[in-house]
Amino acid sequence: MRRKSPPPRPAATLPSLTLILFSLLTTTTTTTTTSSLSTITSSLSTNASSQQLQFLKCLFLTSPTPIPTTNPLLTPSLSSPYQPIFVLHPNTFDHVEATVKCAKAHHLQIRTRSGGHDYANLSSVSLSVKPFLVLDLANLRAITVAHDRTNLAMWVQAGATLGELYHAILTHAPNHAFPAGLCPTVGVGGHISGGGFGLLVRKFGLAADNVLDALIVDSKGRILSRETMGEDLFWAIRGGGAASFCIVLSWKLMIHPVPEIVTIFNIHKTHDERAIALIHKWNLIAYKLPRNLFIRVLLQRLPAKKGGTAITTTFQSLYLGNYSKLKGAMNQWFPELRFSQSDAMEMSWRQAVLFFSGYKNATSIDVLLDRVNKDHLGFKAKSDYLTRPMPKRGLQGLWEWMEKEEKPFVIIDPYGGKVAEIAEDETPFPHRAGSLYNIQYILKWEGEGAEEKKKHEEWIWGLYNHMERYVSKKPRAAYLNYRDLDLGINGRFGGYEEARVWGEKYFKGNFRRLAMVKAEVDSGDFFWNEQSIPPLRP
Ligand SMILES: Cc1cc2nc3c(=O)[nH]c(=O)nc-3n(C[C@H](O)[C@H](O)[C@H](O)COP(=O)(O)OP(=O)(O)OC[C@H]3O[C@@H](n4cnc5c(N)ncnc54)[C@H](O)[C@@H]3O)c2cc1C
Repeated sequence: MRRKSPPPRPAATLPSLTLILFSLLTTTTTTTTTSSLSTITSSLSTNASSQQLQFLKCLFLTSPTPIPTTNPLLTPSLSSPYQPIFVLHPNTFDHVEATVKCAKAHHLQIRTRSGGHDYANLSSVSLSVKPFLVLDLANLRAITVAHDRTNLAMWVQAGATLGELYHAILTHAPNHAFPAGLCPTVGVGGHISGGGFGLLVRKFGLAADNVLDALIVDSKGRILSRETMGEDLFWAIRGGGAASFCIVLSWKLMIHPVPEIVTIFNIHKTHDERAIALIHKWNLIAYKLPRNLFIRVLLQRLPAKKGGTAITTTFQSLYLGNYSKLKGAMNQWFPELRFSQSDAMEMSWRQAVLFFSGYKNATSIDVLLDRVNKDHLGFKAKSDYLTRPMPKRGLQGLWEWMEKEEKPFVIIDPYGGKVAEIAEDETPFPHRAGSLYNIQYILKWEGEGAEEKKKHEEWIWGLYNHMERYVSKKPRAAYLNYRDLDLGINGRFGGYEEARVWGEKYFKGNFRRLAMVKAEVDSGDFFWNEQSIPPLRP
């Protein structure tokens, strides 16, 4: 289903209201009397609806300390049909508790934002006319070292970014790692609750597979831990998308030792350099490689040796070991690539983290603390899973589609190893043994306007159609963290049967259990969004 753009909701009340709320909450205390509250509400009443006023009053009376609020900070590259009426920036867990209680009491929806990288921007905007507020967790990003039996663990508040997490690990335990995504500005709140994979997925599994405990605020406004929320809810938030169930405050994560020296390569090949034959060989073996060796394929347009640009494939690898051991593995598994010492970059784990975070020349790890995503191009993505290797003719067709676009980008990530050892129903993330590769089709464009967008989106739908015969079927699976509203959205009544269309693509058979957990913990569907899990009552 294509995403529709409803008319924008009148936003005239927002600036004045948030300004007044801000001054209200920063200049008053919880000992406010009834008379001062009535003064406040009468000063707001010219601009705000009674629902908004009641919410503000509730917040004022419920929260032990003021909750900062500002105007929305939206991702400019994404369309934003309906804006929030407030953006709250909690500083404490109490603030989150108070917000849930008051929003529920006054029929306001909540969108929780951690890193703000949702592909459909669901953490900031809504396609529904129902008024909502955004809870931006950026101030809740403390990271503390903990221990779990003999393993190192960390409590990481949900507003932290992956970069902040990696910075903390490198600071406290230099030769250790957490298996999660590459982009340092992605937030741990959304990323981990949707699965989360990166270069260590074959060695240690998903980010969600490495969660030991969590603190949440549930739909009743209670702070719960793993023990008090129960195993069903704890299961659901590790891959099922926590936004359907609760607000995650903090994750307890298992941190793993990695070698001091690792080896990286980026080998580029064009069509003339037998790229298709090499990708074909790679896709026969990459999911079966030793789990210390991760090789993925990137397809994009890069500057060509002869001038101009050419579609180029990059074999990008992280090996947890030194060059000589990697050379042995490459000779055994992939001699056709002719990997040699001149391709290899041996480096410390610290340098490798910086390299894959996009800071290959950085000398200080402090660059990982930059929370701002600088990519403001138009953007569209879709995903697939391969359950068997692609034949050469399919790869040739993929290459031809790439040739048609200015900024096409396809990433093919191998699974296998640890991620495939975990049973399909152990977490809601079902893409385990048998899901050999995740494919992500990404398109970025510079121009603005609906026509420009349509032209580029048609390309990605065409490519998606081309790939149909080669990828998983019944369902044609997709990865929740690469959220795709084309797959379907909750209708007005948000029923389970309707939602199965997209829900089973993300979760396969786990969708039913997710819907039953939803009925157990949030039967009134307070935590609703366009792709939230609907409640299924027994
Ligand atoms: C540039 C870029 C690179 C990426 N790289 C990778 C990658 O390498 N591997 C990978 O697996 N994915 C990757 N992703 C996808 C990414 O994992 C998802 O977009 C993820 O959901 C982003 O989390 P966030 O907290 O930044 O986003 P947000 O937009 O803040 O949140 C995403 C969703 O989670 C919900 N949510 C956020 N925080 C909470 C919380 N505390 N409690 C409950 N619900 C919450 C939101 O409401 C929303 O529904 C990438 C995305 C981008 C834009």
